[in-house]
Amino acid sequence: PYEGLPYENIQKIKNDNIVPCIQQYYKKPLLLHEGKMQWLFDFEGKRYLDMFGGIVTVSVGHCHPKINKAIHKQVDTLWHSTNIYQHPNLYKYVEELTSTLPSHLKAVYLVNSGSEANDLALFLARLYTGNFEIISFRNAYHGMSPYLMGTTALSTWRFNVPVSFGVHHAMVPDVFKGLWGGKYCRDSVVQTTRQCECSTFRCQATENYYKQLEEVFMYSIPRGHVAGLIAESIQGVGGIVHFPKGYLQKAYELVRTNGGVCIADEVQTGFGRTGDHFWGFQMHGVKPDIVTMAKGIGNGFPLGAVVTTPEIAEVLKHSSHFNTFGGNPLACSVGLKVLEVLKEEDLQYNSKKVGTYLLNELAKLRDKFECVGDVRGKGLMIGVELVKNKKTNEPLNATDFVRIWDDCKDMGVLIGRGGINGNVLRLAPPMCVTLADAEFAVHVLHKSLLNFYNRS
Ligand code: PMP
Repeated sequence: PYEGLPYENIQKIKNDNIVPCIQQYYKKPLLLHEGKMQWLFDFEGKRYLDMFGGIVTVSVGHCHPKINKAIHKQVDTLWHSTNIYQHPNLYKYVEELTSTLPSHLKAVYLVNSGSEANDLALFLARLYTGNFEIISFRNAYHGMSPYLMGTTALSTWRFNVPVSFGVHHAMVPDVFKGLWGGKYCRDSVVQTTRQCECSTFRCQATENYYKQLEEVFMYSIPRGHVAGLIAESIQGVGGIVHFPKGYLQKAYELVRTNGGVCIADEVQTGFGRTGDHFWGFQMHGVKPDIVTMAKGIGNGFPLGAVVTTPEIAEVLKHSSHFNTFGGNPLACSVGLKVLEVLKEEDLQYNSKKVGTYLLNELAKLRDKFECVGDVRGKGLMIGVELVKNKKTNEPLNATDFVRIWDDCKDMGVLIGRGGINGNVLRLAPPMCVTLADAEFAVHVLHKSLLNFYNRS
């Protein structure tokens, strides 16, 4: 039973003692008590299907028994040591982790969060190339440090202070809302594998967006002097935005011919979540020079990593660079067990199976309801964009969005929210979610859409 502070006291403490920028979901914030695999339980014992996995973080399941066992074992042996001493967990872990990556990516630096990982990646790119300019995409989210606020290109995550300079935002090749793509992409029936096929049609999204990237180079980058490009394999916080087929390959080439390196931010898309591949960048057919990861890597335990080539890693030799908690024995025991469970329980395949089912079923809601503008994603990383109407695709206003979203919560399904206009429902559950759970989630969303139209 719940033995924590009463709900009302928590609301008062939240108002008095928590910084105001901490957003909380739902009109009546959810006070949680327990988690079990894909399920969460609030302080009153009400059960919720967690379709957002603590922001795309719980990969193998809340309190997964095998992970918990590994934690308990390690807690009783050694929590912390730092890298000035050796501990086998770290060495075993980096060996296992690198075995999942292309063979040129061998050198690992363990950290504690996605922001730390991306910070380090930009730092490496700049040191290695001797260049300074970084390119990121509009609508990207890479983290909240001053360095990264420059690459995060969402005004909703900016403050009225200058952020890291030397960052240029390329037009996001968004085939739903962007200038190119549109109709042909939206009409695509194969939602599951929907890399935009526009380039084979009239709109030629890949080519047109690529020209925009070339313009960034032409106008903003000293010729031949870019440090790197950072990109999510599917934009997460930005509302599950896919890049058209072939775009990233061309972008990588352009960056490399201008002296830069390519960074794949796999914080949300890694560890099999996208179903067909273990790493999101693989769906684009590219080979990054630096890969950053966090969230799903630790199933909710603070852990992150940067993996790069030995040549790039070499630049850190010139001075000291250190992270107190990075690679601690406890975090590594979790990381190791997560990799083991992903394999044992075939969760990448499950992501594909349940994700495909979800995409197909959600597409039926798109066909039925005027306010479901788009359904997109890959594996268990899915976005449902709510709009005023399908003709203009203007975002559904916040009040209406919250009505639908809150209703889902009241019926026992937790869904994420994203996109620059906050009008994209994000589904990224723990990867152990079942077909029956997916059916329940779709049923609940269906019901809340019906309720929405019946009430309005
Ligand atoms: N990159 C991506 C793609 C993310 O989604 C996030 C977090 N939402 C980060 C980086 C930053 O991770 P963290 O919050 O662990 O610093």
